[in-house]
Amino acid sequence: MRRYHVTTFGCQMNAHDSERIKGMLEELGLGEAPSPEEADVLVFNTCTIREKPDTRLAAHLGDAKVLKERDPDRVIAVGGCYAEAQRESIFARYPFVDVAFGPGSIPHLAEWLGAGGVGVARSSFGIAEERRFAATLPMHRERSFQAWVQVSMGCNSKCAYCIVPAVRGREVSRRPGEIVAEVTRLASEGVREITLLGQNVNSWGRDLRPEIDTEFGELLRACDAVEGIERIRFTSPHPKDFREPVIAAMAESRTVCEHVHLPLQSGSTRLLKAMRRTYSRERYLQLVDRLREAIPDLALGTDIIVGFPGETDADFQATLEVVEAVGYDSAYTFVYSPRSGTEAAAMPDQIPDDVKRERIERLVELVQRIGHDRNRARIGLTEEVLVEGPSRTDPSRLRGRTRRNTTVNFLGDAGAGELVQVEIDGATSTTLSGRQAALVAA
Ligand code: SAM
Ligand code: SF4
Repeated sequence: MRRYHVTTFGCQMNAHDSERIKGMLEELGLGEAPSPEEADVLVFNTCTIREKPDTRLAAHLGDAKVLKERDPDRVIAVGGCYAEAQRESIFARYPFVDVAFGPGSIPHLAEWLGAGGVGVARSSFGIAEERRFAATLPMHRERSFQAWVQVSMGCNSKCAYCIVPAVRGREVSRRPGEIVAEVTRLASEGVREITLLGQNVNSWGRDLRPEIDTEFGELLRACDAVEGIERIRFTSPHPKDFREPVIAAMAESRTVCEHVHLPLQSGSTRLLKAMRRTYSRERYLQLVDRLREAIPDLALGTDIIVGFPGETDADFQATLEVVEAVGYDSAYTFVYSPRSGTEAAAMPDQIPDDVKRERIERLVELVQRIGHDRNRARIGLTEEVLVEGPSRTDPSRLRGRTRRNTTVNFLGDAGAGELVQVEIDGATSTTLSGRQAALVAA
């Protein structure tokens, strides 16, 4: 049997796309190889959100080139956002690549990999004319009890730093009936936790009007009503589109978790404007207040960029102030990375690397201190944990996540996929520790 290996870079959307890529390859009759060395078809599902993943990909492709030299029948396919962004130059830059495809053309993979992935003609696909959703494609899920469910593809925002709209196209919402049918099927297969995925989940449904008049809160309620689902998460909401019906649906739906990933990007209204985020610092903070009022034990995560063009010390200070004022439970912090073709890449006043570095260090320190304080406040509480498997650092312990999305390493005897109560007795800036109290539901 011919075998494939998929290497995935980047965000959850890409991880989910890889599940579809794997599912399609398996439908073609290929089996999964444990490493690229043992595979006949090597797929790289790439990210190009910052320069770092581009550099990592170059190293991986260097290794793939050596493998191909050893065995010229090996097929090397490069998919995802980098492939889409570099569609004009990818074969010149990496002549040993056989196939390149953008995130919109995954459904076409089968056409050119053909039976068993043999005899591929070199070809390149961009954002496909008619993009299709996952439901109609086979899927290979990594965990039996957790699943991603795509609610939309593409993005209609114009954030000045971001390459996503250029490589994933305009937003297209998936129809609610299709989404709920997939959630129902997943629940019947034993899935307990779903994460609804979209670049901006809170604008979901707009493009379906007037034929279907709906919004994201209604979708949350419909998924909450599916029997067997215990936890619902979603990512990412854009603060500009976070409206009352969604807040109410979160507060009133049993299975929607008390966690929101609410990308801030910057705490300076001036910079938010330059970024084209279309909310101010004040509006963001008001939204946080409303969310906390409706969902008292809410955990908040965020994304922050430092060193956006023109960022002054005062702008950066404003970001630190918002981080302090909100008190995030977790935060992804990024050094601004110019992406060719985006508005910000052409802006004057690019920030020197040493300034970016110094700022990110200060930001990370603050984020960690606050994360540690927030986690320490959980000591003594009992939290519901969905068991994911053995702890990564100590296999004699288990690992899982609270509803508030914090990783917990704990003493216990439950199996993966079970919900247990864990008494929290320790905290770091990113994790909790504890011991299992009782089995909640098997
Ligand atoms: N649509 C989602 C959103 O708006 O939150 C996800 C976008 S992206 C996959 C995830 C994060 O990458 C963004 O929230 C932003 O903080 C960061 N990011 C995007 N472009 C960047 C750039 N050019 N340099 C540094 N960070 C960037
Ligand atoms: Fe990029 Fe902004 Fe769209 Fe998120 S909302 S994908 S940051 S353009």
